[in-house]
Amino acid sequence: MLCGLIVGSVSLASSLAFFSCLGSSSIFRLCAPSLTHILECGRLNCGLLDLIGLMSKKEAALEVLGRTVISCRKCPRLVSYVSKVSQDKVRRYKKWSYWGRPLPGFGDPEARLLIVGLAPAAHGGNRTGRMFTGDSSGDWLIRALCETGFANQPKSVSRKNGLMLASTYITAVVRCAPLQNRPLADEIANCSGYLLEELRLLDRVEVVLTLGKVAFDTCMEYVFPRDSKPRPRFRHGGFYSFEDLPSLVTSYHPSRQNTQTGRLTWEMWLGVFKRIKHTLGNG
Ligand code: SF4
Repeated sequence: MLCGLIVGSVSLASSLAFFSCLGSSSIFRLCAPSLTHILECGRLNCGLLDLIGLMSKKEAALEVLGRTVISCRKCPRLVSYVSKVSQDKVRRYKKWSYWGRPLPGFGDPEARLLIVGLAPAAHGGNRTGRMFTGDSSGDWLIRALCETGFANQPKSVSRKNGLMLASTYITAVVRCAPLQNRPLADEIANCSGYLLEELRLLDRVEVVLTLGKVAFDTCMEYVFPRDSKPRPRFRHGGFYSFEDLPSLVTSYHPSRQNTQTGRLTWEMWLGVFKRIKHTLGNG
């Protein structure tokens, strides 16, 4: 019911086009932007409690988790850094009102694919208020998701640009932009509970895709069994199966450092999503 309401809040034409392109595929379903984002965009004129009453238990639990994340202050170093970045800004984004707080995950509550990144970018997600939105990593991720049918459009430049994900949820190891993209071990530990709670709530997830070594190491530390044999190792395009757990897919992170040096090419990157789509299609 809520999905229907929210779909009405974005472009009807794009929603219908997205529906029709997914209609023949059993692996996809439409997802909505989170309630937090809807309310912040001011697109629905009713109260929070009214809307929570319309949500499924899972949607409501994810919404509550998202609000907990946004108000989290467990890592003073990161909290003060994202706040400072949001005040100092960079020249090209001087006119933006930065988000400047921790970021919740977002996507489809019935997701079968969970994507785990490193952290919001200081002038990307930390500015726009949504992970992988407004930076070059987001450009690569959303374009690949769109080309493989997991997203309705190839761009994610702001929270209000009508992006919808299908069967996909996007999250990160830490929810505050870290200095030099290097969170400390205790900051990762502080934030790991949110990842575990997302995985518990997203009970249809069949594939976890980790982007980069930190996301891989964190998932091996907190999500997957340490004694699995053979033990997964970090590489691009690794696919690993476990008993009673989602499969693990490993990829290089689509950071500029990797994409501009050719370490990660578009073909390598897209190939991961094609294989995931094939895996889910055969599930
Ligand atoms: S990184 Fe995670 S645990 Fe630390 S303050 Fe941000 S949201 Fe909280």
